[in-house]
This record gives sequence, C-alpha cells and structure tokens, in this order.
Amino acid sequence: MLTRSALLYLARQEKLKDFAARFAVFKKITARFIAGETIDEAVAAIQELNKRGCSASFDHLNESVSSIAETEAEVREYLDVLAQIDDSGINSNVSIKLTQFGLEIDPELTYGNARKVVEDAARRKNFVRIDMEGSNVTQITIDIFKRLRSEFGLNDVGIVLQSYLYRTEADARDLLKIPARIRLCKGAYDEPPEVAYADKKDVDANYVRVMKLLLASGVYHGIATHDPKMIDATIDFAAQQGIAKEAFEFQMLFGIRRDLQEQLAREGYNMRVYVPYGKHWYPYFMRRLAERPANVWFVLKNLWK
Ligand SMILES: Cc1cc2nc3c(=O)[nH]c(=O)nc-3n(C[C@H](O)[C@H](O)[C@H](O)COP(=O)(O)OP(=O)(O)OC[C@H]3O[C@@H](n4cnc5c(N)ncnc54)[C@H](O)[C@@H]3O)c2cc1C
Repeated sequence: MLTRSALLYLARQEKLKDFAARFAVFKKITARFIAGETIDEAVAAIQELNKRGCSASFDHLNESVSSIAETEAEVREYLDVLAQIDDSGINSNVSIKLTQFGLEIDPELTYGNARKVVEDAARRKNFVRIDMEGSNVTQITIDIFKRLRSEFGLNDVGIVLQSYLYRTEADARDLLKIPARIRLCKGAYDEPPEVAYADKKDVDANYVRVMKLLLASGVYHGIATHDPKMIDATIDFAAQQGIAKEAFEFQMLFGIRRDLQEQLAREGYNMRVYVPYGKHWYPYFMRRLAERPANVWFVLKNLWK
C-alpha cells in the first residue's frame, strides 16, 4: 500500500502531473474533490453550497509557479474571481498560496502580487486567506502576511497555521497580539521530525490546544478539520466558555464529509467550504489521497472500470 510519505513525494513530481493530465479518466475522478476547471464551474458549485447553508472560499489551483508572467496571470485570475463574487452575489471569500504568486522566485514580487489581491478584496469588503504551505516557507509566509496585515484590516487578510508544526502554538500567540484571523488546520505536507509531530495523537493534542487559544481570543477564526473529535472539542469548549456559535467558523474541503458540513450548518454553526478549481489539480489531489488510504482505492477502482 502506498504510504502517506510516498503519496506526498509523488505530489511533488512535476512530470507525473503532465502524465496524469493526459488521461480523461482523471477528470471524472478528480471531480470528487475539485469543482471544475473554470471560474464559472466554481461559481456554480458555490451557489449549490450557499443553498445548503455553507459559505465558501475560492482556491485557484496552482502552486510553485516559476515564471513572473504566470504569477501575474494568477493575480488577474483572483481579481476576476473577486469581481465574479460581487457580480453573482455568492457568499465566498478567496484563498491564495504565496508560491502561486512567486515565493520561489522573489519574496518582494510575491508581496506585490498578494498586495494587489488584498487591496481589491478590501475595497470590495471581501477577505483573502493566505494558505500555509511547506515548512521551508512558513516564516516567509508569516512575514509577508504581517506586512500585509500592517497595511490592511483584520477583516481584509488572514493566515493559516498547522497543528503538526512544533512552532505553531508560539506563532498563534504572536499573531494574536496583532491581532490576526487564523485558520487552524492539521497540515498537509510531508514534514521531518525536526519540525513536526510525527504522531497523530500529538498533532491532535496540539490542534485542541491551539483551537482553545484561538477561540478564547475573541477574534473570528476558522477551525478547519473533518475530524469529529476536533469538531466536538471545539463545540464543547465554546459551550463551556459561553462563546457564541457566530464567533468562529468551521471549514472543510469541497467533497469531503458533505454530511457533516450540512449537519453543522443546520445546527447553526458557520460552515465554510474550500472550493478548489483549475487545471493544475495534481498536487492538491495527491495531498487528498495521502490523507486517506481509502481514496487511493477509489482512484484505482475508477481507473480499472
Ligand atoms: C478548509 C481547509 C483548508 C485547509 N488549508 C490548508 C492549508 O492552508 N495548509 C495545509 O497544510 N493544509 C490545509 N488543509 C488540509 C489539512 O491540513 C489536513 O491535511 C486535512 O484537512 C485533513 O485533516 P483533518 O483535520 O480533516 O483530520 P484527519 O485526522 O486527517 O481526518 C479526519 C477524518 O476526516 C476525513 N478526511 C480527512 N481527509 C480526507 C480526505 N482527503 N478524503 C476523505 N476523507 C477525509 C476522514 O473521515 C478522516 O477520518 C486545509 C483543510 C481544510 C479543511
């Protein structure tokens, strides 16, 4: 059986991305996790989510972009997305990755690109979430976020922290002083034991610890997980502390635990679904496979058919 590390290794292989994209069958398989290739398809998916009581966050799939022209195309794509959110009236914000805006080329270029999107979002009273990527870019991602946050408001731009990293509790305490809106997730990359907890129990314990810090801060944060244990811990802590349901939101990924998404929305919790779309689906898709061995069987079964 392919291990999590092996799948995450495959996720980083650019050549396989082109190979997989050639097979039409992958389009059908990826539809479970990816809303389509175009903004229109993502808008349609978000309209459905909104009808089910969930808000959304657009994610234009692309990462580790290596040409300046491509980073500029990513900025244009996001400006288009923000315009379409307003035009269609859907309830959605946007999520960006800094390697999509040039982090592997030049941090200053990245900052300038991200700034254009945050500025437009702020003007439209929308919100930009900066996703967190591998630990090699954690610090620079936080640095660029802080720079943007010093220029824009709490409700214009936010960041993500990953509970598998040892540093995360300290980062959360530091960012809360600004303050900042944080999405807490477990973390999706292959990290060495020097920087990240290897044992799931420790990742989960850190998740609960940081979740409590976030909720107690009084700032509106995103609790991003499909894990019922993390969700129950959040609901219990909020109830004990008298924290209102409207004071935070749960977040899940498109196509994962739709039942739980709808249940939480029905129970009156704010529920946001992260909606990836675009042609560069390969690394995102592989990370979803790595999270759950059953997904690999789902792919193999469909390839066989
Ligand atoms: C809204 C959102 C945004 C995210 N943003 C980032 C980010 O910026 N950076 C980052 O590193 N990671 C991000 N992630 C991914 C995250 O770090 C985890 O890898 C992912 O959410 C799985 O962790 P979990 O909390 O669901 O718990 P797990 O313990 O992994 O899973 C709990 C249960 O959820 C279900 N489940 C989880 N994953 C899958 C899957 N792929 N397919 C089917 N069922 C599944 C299963 O039932 C599983 O038993 C994000 C996740 C969400 C929900």
